[in-house]
Amino acid sequence: MRDFQVSKVYAWEDEVLYPKSRPLSENQIINLVDRTCSTNDTPPLRYVDVAPVRTSTAMYNATQKSLVLPPWSHNTHHVIHEVAHHITRHKTRGLAAAHGPEFVGWMIRIFARRHRLSIRELITSAKNAGIEVV
Ligand SMILES: [Zn+2]
Repeated sequence: MRDFQVSKVYAWEDEVLYPKSRPLSENQIINLVDRTCSTNDTPPLRYVDVAPVRTSTAMYNATQKSLVLPPWSHNTHHVIHEVAHHITRHKTRGLAAAHGPEFVGWMIRIFARRHRLSIRELITSAKNAGIEVV
């Protein structure tokens, strides 16, 4: 499925989520990932690489069910972004666009709970930026 709103999502995240983000230690990353999967009824990831040697890109690997999180991404925003890919894929059986409305909805709900922010306000903000959210 075409990733039709990826650039809008990245721009909105940089402007709205990233400034509210907090740094995470490696243990905090593992705890956040595990807890986010279990509280959202999603199977745990097989592994989380917090010190990749071959890449500087943060990513979710759906086939391996793993996260790659280089040091620059050790913060709530980037970790939640990547784990939201895993949860969205599980909930939609892989039928949703990578950064589509379902993904944005999951990412916002997880981020809002973590930072005690209003889910409704974040959804309104995303929609005002022209992003589809469910
Ligand atoms: Zn992404």
